[in-house]
Amino acid sequence: MTSAYMDNNATTRVDPAVLQSILPYFSEYYGNPSSMHSFGGDVGKRLEEARTSVQSLLGAEHDSEIIFTSCGTESDNTAILSALSAQPGRREIVTSIVEHPAVLSLCEHLERHEGYRIHYIPVDRLGRINMDAYEAALSEQVAVVSMMYANNETGTIFPIEAMARMARAKGAIFHTDAVQAVGKIPLNMRESAIDMLSLSGHKLHAPKGIGALYVRRGTRFRPFLRGGHQERGRRAGTENTTGVIALGKAAELALSHLEYENTRVRAMRDRLEQGLIERVPYSFANGDLDNRLPNTASISFEYIEGEAILMLLSRAGIAASSGSACTSGSLEPSHVLRAMDIPYTAAHGTIRFSLSRETTDAEVDWVLTQTPAIIEQLRRLSPYWGSNGPIQSDKGFEPVYA
Ligand code: PLP
Repeated sequence: MTSAYMDNNATTRVDPAVLQSILPYFSEYYGNPSSMHSFGGDVGKRLEEARTSVQSLLGAEHDSEIIFTSCGTESDNTAILSALSAQPGRREIVTSIVEHPAVLSLCEHLERHEGYRIHYIPVDRLGRINMDAYEAALSEQVAVVSMMYANNETGTIFPIEAMARMARAKGAIFHTDAVQAVGKIPLNMRESAIDMLSLSGHKLHAPKGIGALYVRRGTRFRPFLRGGHQERGRRAGTENTTGVIALGKAAELALSHLEYENTRVRAMRDRLEQGLIERVPYSFANGDLDNRLPNTASISFEYIEGEAILMLLSRAGIAASSGSACTSGSLEPSHVLRAMDIPYTAAHGTIRFSLSRETTDAEVDWVLTQTPAIIEQLRRLSPYWGSNGPIQSDKGFEPVYA
């Protein structure tokens, strides 16, 4: 083994069975599902089967509660904008400070340009939501609450059901960005107070460019894209048929692997995390360690730069990430780590390793053998590191990066 793909929260490999399932739909069964002839009708049937598979993965009551979209971002935007437009008298939104940009930048836009009041609920050092602040923000003025199910950087899971019930009591629509949770932990929409839920195909071994939005029956809904009557008039545009069929197959596979994800994948993640922390001095794991996704490890290697670690890991054939894929490329620690108040010198050297059901023990071994030497090498070059370990200056550790 000379490589390890540990960036499954950024994206996953398309499962070979998913790929096989869609190939005939490019060149043999290429009809438009809205057409009356058999070329279209056959494809239309497959779309409805895919909808049922996604329904099963979510434990939803009706297949009509699933709307196919182009990605997680579209699902998030649709949910929030729909809730606002369905309740024009309510001018407030509640969200968390650690959401993905798919939610945060929309909220910032709505705040700056459309006059909405946004409540950004803070988190603690473990990334747990501040429930007192959440309760205080809820009122009859709130149109929509949008809270991520699980954080993409740390894997921390929010108490979504309790939060959804509290929102419902105030008449607010509750949306959850479950892009990182779907396929990794069991969900049961039948027993839930969630009104809308976003998911994305490429996080669960389907291709990029397909997503879905769950909308509970009876939830007031306004379409984001208007045009044809596809998706019962709730999302116009000819369906991404191969994407939808792929998502259906991926949902089936995810459902049958949930147990594996929560046993074997979790065990490999734990072995990786504990192994790294044991082998590398001044390193620690971030997030709510008792309540997080089974595949995600966020590890801070103190006194070095995450970008440099990623570069050397990449040279060793190891794909990981610092912060989310969208924030890497910038030298600032991610907004999630900053919100958790991770000390500056630790936040900088934080790496996310995210596994999947395709991860092997050999890959874990490869990361465990390669990483300690890389960290040691970088610390020798670090202005914060001396011959006896970290150097604490009068000014603390911050001036060089500030
Ligand atoms: N929400 C979360 C929590 C994510 O992690 C991501 C992708 O990283 C998205 C939304 C966006 O999904 P997509 O890439 O399908 O637009």
